[in-house]
Amino acid sequence: RQEQFRALRDVEPVTRDGHRISLLMNAGLLVDLPQLVESGAEGVGLFRTELQFMIASTLPKLEEQEEFYRNVIRQAAGRPVTFRTLDIGGDKVVPYFRAHEEENPALGWRAIRLSLDRPGLLRTQLRALLRASAGADLKMMIPMVTEVSEIQRVRELFQKEVQHLSKFGHPLPKRLQFGAMLEVPALMWQLDELMQEVDFVSVGSNDLFQFSMAVDRGNARVSDRFDILGRPFLRILRDIVRAGERNQTPVTLCGEMAGKPLSSMALFGLGFRSVSMSPAAIGPVKAMLLGLDVGKLANVMDTALDDLKPKMPMREVLQRFAEEN
Ligand code: PEP
Ligand code: MG
Repeated sequence: RQEQFRALRDVEPVTRDGHRISLLMNAGLLVDLPQLVESGAEGVGLFRTELQFMIASTLPKLEEQEEFYRNVIRQAAGRPVTFRTLDIGGDKVVPYFRAHEEENPALGWRAIRLSLDRPGLLRTQLRALLRASAGADLKMMIPMVTEVSEIQRVRELFQKEVQHLSKFGHPLPKRLQFGAMLEVPALMWQLDELMQEVDFVSVGSNDLFQFSMAVDRGNARVSDRFDILGRPFLRILRDIVRAGERNQTPVTLCGEMAGKPLSSMALFGLGFRSVSMSPAAIGPVKAMLLGLDVGKLANVMDTALDDLKPKMPMREVLQRFAEEN
C-alpha cells in the first residue's frame, strides 16, 4: 500500500466530480520538511513554531529563530508555509518558561494570551518571521484566539515591527497573509467580524472539539467519549464553512481529523477544499478523494445533518456512503 500511495504523489488531488483540494502537511521541525516532497503535500498548512522552543534548553534568541525560519523556508523550496505564532501552554510545555501551576492549563495562560502578556516575546518572533521572509510571502496565523480584538492587538505589534525594519532599511516580505486559528467556541459567534479581519481561518479541530464537547484531549477516559463525526461537531464545522463562503474568506482545517480518510471525506462533503495533516496521511486521503463524488456527498450530509429525528449516527451515514460510492 505504501507503494500505491507513493505512485499518487504527483497526481493532482481532484475529486471524481472535479473539485480541486489542497492537501497540506503539518510540521514543526526541520527534519519534517523532506516529507513535503516525499508525501507530495502542496505546502505546510501548520508549522508549529513552539517545537523549537520545546526542544531548546533556553529561550531561542532572535537570530536563532530567524535562522530557523529561514531554513524552513529554504527547504520548502517555494511551497507555501503557514507559520503559527507560539502556542506555549496547555499540553505544550516549555520547561524554562515555567508559568504558575494551573488547575486548568488548557483554559489557562497559553498561546496568544501568553504572547500578548509578553509582547517582547511575540515581537521578537514577529521580527524573526519578517526578516526570514524578506522578499518572499509570509503567511502566519494566531493560535487560541477568543476575541477578534486579540488579532487587532497582534496586528498593531506586527505593524511596529514592520516600521522598525523599514526604518533600518531591511527588506520586507512581498506579501503578507494573516490568519486566525478557530479553536475556541466563542469565535463561532464572531464569525463575520473575524472573517472581515483576517485573510484566512484555520480550524484547529483538536482544540475546537475539546472545548466544544468539554472533553480533555489528553484524557483517554473522556477524549473519545463523543464522536468527532457526530452531528454537533459537524454542524459547527458546517457553520464555519458557510461563514467562509459568505465572507469570501478561505477556510482550512489542520487538526488530526483531517488525516483520517473517513473524517476528511466528511470535511470535503461539508465544503472544505483545503486541509492540513500529518505527512503520512496525505497518500491515503488522496486515494480516497480521487474516487469521491463531493457533490453527491454534500447532499447526503446536508439532509442527514438537518434531520431532527435521525435513525442513524452520522458516522454510519458516512461509512455507508463510503462503501456504496
Ligand atoms: C488543533 O488544536 O487542532 C491544532 C491543530 O493545534 P494543536 O494540535 O497544536 O493544538
Ligand atoms: Mg490547538
